[in-house]
Formats: sequence, structure tokens, C-alpha cells
Amino acid sequence: MTVTPLDHGVLGPELASTPYDHPFRAELRAWLREHPPASEPLDQGEKFACRRSWHRQLAEAGRVGLHWPVEYGGQGADPMTQFMYYEELALARAPEPVNTPGLILLGPTLMAHGSDELKKRFLPGILSGDEMWCQGFSEPNSGSDLASLRTRAEMSGDEWVVNGQKTWTTFGQYADYCFVLCRTEAGSERHRGLTLLICPVRQPGVTVRPIRQISGDEEFCEVFFEDARVPGAWVVGEVGHGWEAAMTLFQFERGDQGYTDHARLLVRLADCERAVDDAEARGAVSPERAADARARHLALWVRCQGLRRLNHRGATLAAEGKELGAVGSLTNLVWGELEKDLGTACAEASGAESLLVGRRDTHARLATRAASIYSGTSEIQRNIIAERLLGLPR
Ligand SMILES: Cc1cc2nc3c(=O)[nH]c(=O)nc-3n(C[C@H](O)[C@H](O)[C@H](O)COP(=O)(O)OP(=O)(O)OC[C@H]3O[C@@H](n4cnc5c(N)ncnc54)[C@H](O)[C@@H]3O)c2cc1C
Repeated sequence: MTVTPLDHGVLGPELASTPYDHPFRAELRAWLREHPPASEPLDQGEKFACRRSWHRQLAEAGRVGLHWPVEYGGQGADPMTQFMYYEELALARAPEPVNTPGLILLGPTLMAHGSDELKKRFLPGILSGDEMWCQGFSEPNSGSDLASLRTRAEMSGDEWVVNGQKTWTTFGQYADYCFVLCRTEAGSERHRGLTLLICPVRQPGVTVRPIRQISGDEEFCEVFFEDARVPGAWVVGEVGHGWEAAMTLFQFERGDQGYTDHARLLVRLADCERAVDDAEARGAVSPERAADARARHLALWVRCQGLRRLNHRGATLAAEGKELGAVGSLTNLVWGELEKDLGTACAEASGAESLLVGRRDTHARLATRAASIYSGTSEIQRNIIAERLLGLPR
């Protein structure tokens, strides 16, 4: 199926610094018309393969990691260009980005804290998509309270030996490398004595066990480290200062593609509107229910526009060289709740049919439940907003 880019009207009113007639948008649209992206299959393994192949196609055309500095293979694009880039990809219904733990998180953190040797070794593979990455932070008893983590590593000869368990590791089963936050100082507590290591996943000391979710996907995994080996120099930042490296990494979490997750939601909402029209025409929903659904969609559209403004503000701050700070939590909260509500509304748009297993909208409804958990739960975001933006007591 050839997918043609949707009209810019789907995104809503034009924003002054990212106009719809911008030459960057025009050039990218022309390229997308010549290289129409495949639509994502529903099956997870096929979906991942589709995303990876799209990543490679983009990489070969020099269209991955636009925001990376030129010296590391990127184009040094400014945040506004990134904003337009992801909007155009969403309008073209391109597969979702893959390798984001490498591209968005570890890559930029390596640039900030990594040795020249590590940058040279790992950055090209992240960009090309030849090496896949996963994030090994959360543990069974350490999620929101990350500083309580217990996975440990100690030097033996010229290698680190890692023991412990990580969990909720997204796409761990496809990863070649995992960046693992470990306790490297015996007896240390909280954020002291931690080190960020790069651990090869495909080795005897690492077992990856996928976790089945309610959607049927196995999107994340448990990862067990039993005397796993890491070369002594594969440390991001300084030994014992992993918390600093982790904090740098978290700063990137809401940057880059985070600026534009509104675009995918708006495209999904447009599809949802069409599903209502279609269901009404077929008599699958009554005119009254269709009218209710449209009113609900309008309220969601308004919230999407709010998210779009927040994302644009994030890009503007980044363009001015300012940090996002607690505003990132506000954006994250708005996005997570919106993603879930939109998933529910879109599934319900087609009436009772939405309860059928195997449908794309039913799958999305279940899969989006996680949006208010990963990258920080809604409760944690509310705490940050309360304390840092509103100045309320702890
Ligand atoms: C789809 C998905 C993908 C993920 N991918 C990864 C990954 O690739 N790598 C990785 O390391 N992790 C990943 N995670 C883990 C994610 O970071 C954690 O789930 C998240 O940080 C919450 O931690 P937890 O699940 O241990 O819940 P907990 O921290 O135990 O929280 C349980 C509940 O208590 C609430 N709570 C906790 N502390 C407070 C507080 N101080 N105030 C108020 N309420 C509080 C929470 O909001 C939540 O409702 C992923 C999670 C999901 C759902």
C-alpha cells in the first residue's frame, strides 16, 4: 500500500517558527513521497522488523539522528527542525522510531560523558541501526525510587562482573547492548557508588525473559545478570558517578522525539474520526452515539493542541539553550494521560466491534495503558510539578 502524507490541517493551526511551507518540510515530504513507508504490522516481531528496516532506510539517506552533531554522524539540526521532522514522519504514518534507547538516551549521554574510545566504538552502530540497545535501570523493587537499585558490579582482572536483575526492559530481546546502572561500591547507599556500564546482552551471563502484556505483546523483558562480563573501560562517565550520567540521560528523555508525540496522536484521532463516520454509515453505531463520539474527539483534539504547544515550548527552550526542567514533567503528564484517553476513545469509536481481539484499535487501547507509567508515572510527575513548579511542600 502506498501511504501518502496527510494534509497539514490534521496538525491544527500553523505555529510561527515551524511553518507548513518551510523548505525543510517540503524537501522531506518529497523524499517521503518517493520512499513511502510501509505500514506497521500488528504482530510484534514483524512490527519490530518493519521499524528496523525503516530505520535503516532513513539512516542510509542520512535522515536519522538529525540532532546529533555533525562530528558524530548527525546533521546538527536545531530543535525546531527536529519538531518539523517528527511531525512530517507522523503525517506520513511512518513506522515508529526504533533503537530509541540508543539514539535518544545513550548516544547523547555518551557524547556528554563517554570516552573518545566509547564514542568511536558505539555511536556509528546506534545511528545505522546495526546495533540495538536497551535500558537497564528499573529493577523489581526499584522503579520510581531508582536510587534503591541493587544490581551490583565488581572488577575482576580487567573486566566488570555484573550480578542482579533488571525488569521492564523494553525490547531487551532484540538488543545487542544494555546500559546498566549498577552499584559498584560495596555498602554504598542511594545515589552514591553507582556506575553506568555498557553490557553486551548476547553472552552466557545474561538471560532475557520477555514478559507478556495484556495486549498480547511482549514489549518488555526481565533481564538476569549472572556473572555477566563487561570490559573494564566500558563505563559511561566516571566509576562511582553513575547517578550523574543517569541524570544527564533523563534530561534527554523528553527531548528529541518527545517534542512531537502530539503529531502521532493527532493522526490517530483523524483516523478515529473516519472510523466513526464509517461505523455510522454501516449502522454499527447509532447517530446519537456517533455524535457523542465526535464531541469526545473534539475535547481530545483540544488537549492534543495543548500538548503540541507544550512540546513546541520545549523545543523553543532547547533552541534557546535552556533546560526543560520541571516543564518536562508537565508535558509528560499531559502526554501520558492523553495517550490513554485517546486509546480508549478510538477503540470505542467503532462500537461493539472494538471488543474483538486482533483489531488494531483494541490492541492500541490495551497497549496505551502503560503510557502513564513509563518515563515516570503520572503520580511522580505530579509530585515534581507540585514541588518545583507550584512551590508546594514535599
Ligand atoms: C511499557 C513500559 C516500558 C518500560 N521500559 C523500561 C526500560 O526500557 N528500562 C527501564 O529501566 N525501565 C522501563 N520501564 C519501567 C518504568 O520506568 C517503571 O515502571 C516506572 O519507573 C515505575 O516504577 P515501578 O513500575 O517499579 O512502580 P513503582 O515505583 O513501584 O510505583 C508503583 C505505584 O506507586 C506510585 N508511587 C511510587 N512512588 C510514589 C511517590 N513518591 N509518590 C506518589 N506515588 C508514588 C507510582 O506512581 C505507581 O502508581 C518501563 C515501564 C513500562 C510500563
